[in-house]
Amino acid sequence: MSKLRILVPVKRVIDFAIKPRINKAQTGVEKKGVKFSINPFCDIALEESLRIREGNKDLVENIHAVSIGPTKAQDVLRTALAKGADTTTLIDVGEEEVEPLTVAKLLQKVVEKENSNLVILGKQAIDDDANQTGQMLAGLLNWPQATNASKVEISGDKVTVTREIDGGADTLSATLPMIITTDLRLNEPRYASLPNVMKAKKKPLEKLKASDLQIELSKRLETLKVEEPVAREAGVTVESVDELISKLKDAKAL
Ligand code: AMP
Repeated sequence: MSKLRILVPVKRVIDFAIKPRINKAQTGVEKKGVKFSINPFCDIALEESLRIREGNKDLVENIHAVSIGPTKAQDVLRTALAKGADTTTLIDVGEEEVEPLTVAKLLQKVVEKENSNLVILGKQAIDDDANQTGQMLAGLLNWPQATNASKVEISGDKVTVTREIDGGADTLSATLPMIITTDLRLNEPRYASLPNVMKAKKKPLEKLKASDLQIELSKRLETLKVEEPVAREAGVTVESVDELISKLKDAKAL
């Protein structure tokens, strides 16, 4: 039975509780003065790896968190360390937006470097909503993948993953090494305690550039325009069911 060396990619994104505003140039969202946090699905991925270790201490050798982003992305890595990750790598790409294929190529290099045999990613990053990185990484590594996991069970080298599908559940099994992406209902992430947050500030953090991993930050997509959805017309309040039916008839909806 191989010991688990789990890699958890965590993305720094605008906090999920904040309504993003589109910038004046309509090229993206406003990032100045906005709170950033760990992407919620990545937080679930980290939580799952911590629970796997808590379920069987001998099973897990290392939990490594990696983030690709600006220097400030080290905040989400510090949070990961405070919650229980053992080691971390920041791949500093400055303010560059990195497309999922490039993220997957960088992660492939980190998998090789860290000798990981299980990668648990979020099913999507809530900023680009791409839902592609885990799948692309599985393709590059030629590893089996179970996406949108709502339950993960590990027995020896065998991993069983339940996925929520419309009106039921889909249960898959694969042998390590493999890729899992997390769905919302997999678990409820813990908060980092203040003493652990303080301790995490002193822990070492590996910093790399994409060029250290021989990966070019090339782009295949160009954002033409980002715009708000068309504002909806205000509704009307009706006094009775009869009035509602009459209005629906007028609108030819009945
Ligand atoms: P996406 O395919 O962009 O929706 O992202 C899916 C998952 O891939 C995220 O939940 C992360 O686990 C991982 N990921 C994507 N981009 C990054 C990044 N810049 N840094 C670290 N992990 C990332």
